[in-house]
Amino acid sequence: MAYSIVIGLEVHTQLATRTKLFCGCERSFGEEPNVHTCPVCLGMPGTLPVPNAKAVEYAIRMGLALGCSIDRNALFTRKAYFYPDVPRNYQITQTGGMPIYDHPICVDGKLRIKDGAIDKEISIVRIHMEDDAGKLLHDRGADSLFDANRCGTPLCEIVTGPDMRSIDEALLYLQRLKQILEYLGVSDCNMEEGNFRCDVNVSLRKSDDAPFGTRVELKNMNSFSNIEKAVQHEIMRQAEILDNGGQVLQETRAYDVAKGTTRSLRSKEDAQDYRYFPEPDIIPLQVSESMIEEIRATLPELPEDRVARYVGQLGLPEYDARVITADKVQADWYEAILAAGAPAKQASNWFMGDVLRLLKDSTRTISDLPIGPGHVASLIERIEDKTISGKIAKDIFELMAESGKTPDQLIEEKGLRQITDTGAIDKAIAEVIAANPKELEGYRGGKEKLFGFFVGQVMKATQGKANPSAVNDLLKKALAG
Ligand code: ADP
Ligand code: MG
Ligand code: ZN
Repeated sequence: MAYSIVIGLEVHTQLATRTKLFCGCERSFGEEPNVHTCPVCLGMPGTLPVPNAKAVEYAIRMGLALGCSIDRNALFTRKAYFYPDVPRNYQITQTGGMPIYDHPICVDGKLRIKDGAIDKEISIVRIHMEDDAGKLLHDRGADSLFDANRCGTPLCEIVTGPDMRSIDEALLYLQRLKQILEYLGVSDCNMEEGNFRCDVNVSLRKSDDAPFGTRVELKNMNSFSNIEKAVQHEIMRQAEILDNGGQVLQETRAYDVAKGTTRSLRSKEDAQDYRYFPEPDIIPLQVSESMIEEIRATLPELPEDRVARYVGQLGLPEYDARVITADKVQADWYEAILAAGAPAKQASNWFMGDVLRLLKDSTRTISDLPIGPGHVASLIERIEDKTISGKIAKDIFELMAESGKTPDQLIEEKGLRQITDTGAIDKAIAEVIAANPKELEGYRGGKEKLFGFFVGQVMKATQGKANPSAVNDLLKKALAG
């Protein structure tokens, strides 16, 4: 039978601070194992953690952008578990297991997701700070090896309510959240590097108003396509259990990319298993009202506001606005075309059609391109002042995208200046007419469609450089005889 889907998401995002959460070691990725370590992040007895002020600032920044209240007395707690990649045998986090210990830095926010048929608010239950574990390497021979570079890296966990009702809603939420974090500059959000990863909680119930079913947590998903496949598979798995009159077990499962299936990692621990208690080495954070206001004052324009400005002030269609603002660096690039004097819609057409095409199917980012916003602006200017036709501009775009040369350089070099001199156009027309007596006869005999043939011939004779509207006018006269 058909079931209603319920999804809640926990995103772990690595904060883009220079150093780790409780020590001065550099935050790093992909470096030689165990070079960024010290007694604190190796959990040596007697060492003391000191919270990273930048990380606290980033967490608050995130909370404010997501409409959360900031807990000015946020508390760090110890979550005890033994695992070889956690040298301390406990994680320093902000979950408490019981209300008196549970003071995450941000609570009660929301994120609106809107696209196509979807328009709803997803509640952000909490955002808490915690440090990451190290990494076990299982692929270096017979033994497993340990790399502590990641130990103590600052994370924020962003937890939603069980508010999503389809895979599409979950994916849209993740896209929007990632986009906002990128705009805020608080995380690199690089999914391949694991600094934006997600636990997806899924449950099924008989109908939209039935009580929630038992949830299964799919752990550490780090690509949109894997999330989609894993959740699809999990829904089928649970539906089959329920169809057969069984009960879904509350557990944590992992997605096996190669097999396309999920497997059980562990049944869900209860809070008491973690022996939570307030971290005695760190006093509660004391975030002042003025610190919060200072951070609020530096919040950038967020994606939804930018979309509204592009539509309201620049007059762009919402579709354009969404495509352009999807990525902040790209949106800034687009705005630089406008700052160089180009009209908004023309700039948007070139940007979405031509510039973004250069990035498709390639690992290049917009900053790797040999051209800048100024190139596009001056190309548009040369069309507007009729130095070149729109068609020639397409060719120039290709040439500049390869060489990085400016439109003016290319127009000069290749002699692409548009011919507006009517004498030269008339000469070309006369030659074309003389060379095609049959077509001329046909046209004069009433085959008006042949007009297009003559236009094509004249454009060809002028290597596409003749001004199209001048060709039209002059040709009409010449053919009339
Ligand atoms: P834990 O650390 O045990 O995973 P959290 O409170 O951090 O607990 O996260 C629980 C997540 O599971 C939240 O995102 C919440 O929305 C989601 N969730 C809770 N109940 C359900 C349910 N019945 N179906 C789907 N998701 C759920
Ligand atoms: Mg969880
Ligand atoms: Zn360290």
